[in-house]
Amino acid sequence: MKIIDSHVHIYPEFLKKERDKIAAREPWFELLTASKVQKWGTAEELVAAMDESGVESALATTFAFRDQGLCREMNDYVLDAARRFPGRILPLAVVSPTRPGAAAEARRAFDLGAAGLGELFSDGQSFDLSCAEQLREICGICGEYNKFVLFHTAEQAGHQYAGKGAYGAREAAAFCRNFPLTRVVFAHFGGGLWAFTAMPEMRLLTSNACFDTAAWPWLYEPKILNAIFAIGAGDKILFGSDWPILGLARYEKLIAQTGLSLEEKEALLHGNAERLLA
Ligand SMILES: [Zn+2]
Repeated sequence: MKIIDSHVHIYPEFLKKERDKIAAREPWFELLTASKVQKWGTAEELVAAMDESGVESALATTFAFRDQGLCREMNDYVLDAARRFPGRILPLAVVSPTRPGAAAEARRAFDLGAAGLGELFSDGQSFDLSCAEQLREICGICGEYNKFVLFHTAEQAGHQYAGKGAYGAREAAAFCRNFPLTRVVFAHFGGGLWAFTAMPEMRLLTSNACFDTAAWPWLYEPKILNAIFAIGAGDKILFGSDWPILGLARYEKLIAQTGLSLEEKEALLHGNAERLLA
């Protein structure tokens, strides 16, 4: 079956080499790259992994830095990778929403072929996902270009982990209320926002939103996917692996345990992503 991976990270070589220097001024980069689960991966390594596991294309992001200059360097890398691997790597650009230059960089990235923005990271980049003022400009640009934005979110319950952060379903819902016309993906199951789509008003409120499965093996039992389809949110769930920290094999095991129908698997593994990218 055709597979689109909606959430992977790739990193230019210099990031690994200059890790300590950059980490000294980017506290969340310090935290995440010191974590025992951290793995580095280049564009070439991503495509090799995709070939091996039968992934057709991947929405690839880098690291969402607080520093807008570093964001621009990340975008140069991912946009170049997309040119080198056309149709395989679909680039996502990072911007630091509250820093000068973010809006211009979003435009530059879209002009150069970025498929969307993301994975933006409230805690790491010091912006508030629920604040309309801070995100108005970049959401306006996404609308102008008909592009989507991917935000990191995490369930505000359960175990702590490096990079979990303090933004979850409540803030994601506030974003949808502030920007009902902005197409948005909330990573890591939207920090649980999908469950609230069983409330009629929340179904309506989240009509612009999708959720991805990134880090599923570390977070939820297989049956979360059955629950998502059971409450009618199956058209909102995108397969995303969070490669290189997790690979397709772990997800295949989980998917096999769900007993999802062929149609449901198609929606999860490519159909919903194709609609997002259309
Ligand atoms: Zn994330």
